Amino acid sequence: MLSINQKEALRNLPAVNTILQLPEIKELITKSNFELISDITAKIIDKERESILTTESPKNISISDILDKITNQYNKLTSAHLHPVINGTGVILHTNLGRAKLSKEAILAVQNAAVNYSNLEYRIDEGKRGSRYEHVEELLIQITGAEAALVVNNNAAAVFLILREMAKDKEVIVSRGQLVEIGGSFRVSEIMVQSGAHLVEVGTTNKTHRYDYERAITDRTGLLMKVHTSNFKTIGFTKEVCLKTLVEIGKENNIPVYEDLGSGVLYDLKKHRIGEEPTVQEAVAAGADIISFSGDKLLGGPQSGIIVGKKQWIERLKKNQLTRSLRIDKMTLAALEATLRHYVLDEAVEKIPTLQMILMNQKTIEERSQLLYQMLLPIVDKKATIAIIDGYSEVGGGSLPDVKLPTKLIAIKPNNISLHRFEQKLRTNPPNIIGRVNDEQFLLDVRTLGFEEFPIIQEKINSVL
Ligand SMILES: *Cc1c(COP(=O)(O)O)cnc(C)c1O
Repeated sequence: MLSINQKEALRNLPAVNTILQLPEIKELITKSNFELISDITAKIIDKERESILTTESPKNISISDILDKITNQYNKLTSAHLHPVINGTGVILHTNLGRAKLSKEAILAVQNAAVNYSNLEYRIDEGKRGSRYEHVEELLIQITGAEAALVVNNNAAAVFLILREMAKDKEVIVSRGQLVEIGGSFRVSEIMVQSGAHLVEVGTTNKTHRYDYERAITDRTGLLMKVHTSNFKTIGFTKEVCLKTLVEIGKENNIPVYEDLGSGVLYDLKKHRIGEEPTVQEAVAAGADIISFSGDKLLGGPQSGIIVGKKQWIERLKKNQLTRSLRIDKMTLAALEATLRHYVLDEAVEKIPTLQMILMNQKTIEERSQLLYQMLLPIVDKKATIAIIDGYSEVGGGSLPDVKLPTKLIAIKPNNISLHRFEQKLRTNPPNIIGRVNDEQFLLDVRTLGFEEFPIIQEKINSVL
């Protein structure tokens, strides 16, 4: 039984045809097309009817509310949903904001691959079918010193493929201290179950010894796996078995050794005293049979999973049917190739934005903060207080969790609107500025801001205050 209010509300709900006759809607139809607008309108009216039928005492909805809903839905469908944002958080590899920014050369390569036909899987000189992996394999061999290489969609896919090919129905020995969960609930233990490999945990949370691995080896053991604990750090009374020792154990028992490096640094940040991340080159030199890492973390390229190692294993991985389902797209491949070339030419630090931001010196940071401060000072006037304060940037993306990079922050405290409202307005309307908030200030870290974004920030803050 409908209540009186419900009957009243239903009676007042306009018909789709009535709405479609309104001048505002006619204008939308002229801008787009009749099918789209009538469909949006019908769905909104249906939803309103549904809501009336399920609410005890529904309110009458006004025509102008309906018009707003139609316009909002129209805007949602017709403007880019995935669009740029300004990253003022100081988190360089912000997974939610798209991780690594690509180099100019990588962007150009993507464009070329997208616009044109290419030799993606074609050997020009032979006029025959080729392999998409050929475009980056030589580069990866040159940079890392490995025998062979393969790339897939992302590192999660690489881990899965490796476990499936090398250890299906076999046991994989992993230290308890390395059973990580990466953001987005990717767990090594669960990927293991999915792959058909059987996890054998050894050691304790804080300590794992050589003998822990040796005692766990049986004739069912298929792989010794080391997982780089990218996103956390254990301190205090701890012990890990190093890759070199693991390789020794593997050799003695004729079992392959795999390291999931996670971040995949090709450029040694340790020589700048930034973190203790082992490079891919070091893992190769230590003798791992197979190594995997991400393309869009510390490497600074597109989303991809890179596998390097001994030829016999890479050949097997290439032949696995699963590789086809996990395969890398041509635009990604183009960006990855261009990014890897920066390493071969020893110009990674000058060209790759991720490395530039990590290695940005204090003088540059100081200059940038002064410039942005001077640009904001006149527009802020008496509407807010503004200052440059000291702070720290983070590498992010589950990389180098204990590294804090000293930086300068522009701190703004609005006087006429609440801090919460200020932050929300900067964040929600385009151009979207994402910053940090502490107890009483809105903070913008200049390390992750581009010069070209300064005037946009200036204008946006001016309009919000
Ligand atoms: C980030 C990470 C992954 C997942 O890599 P994606 O490229 O994000 O799929 C796997 N293992 C480790 C140790 C990682 O740090």
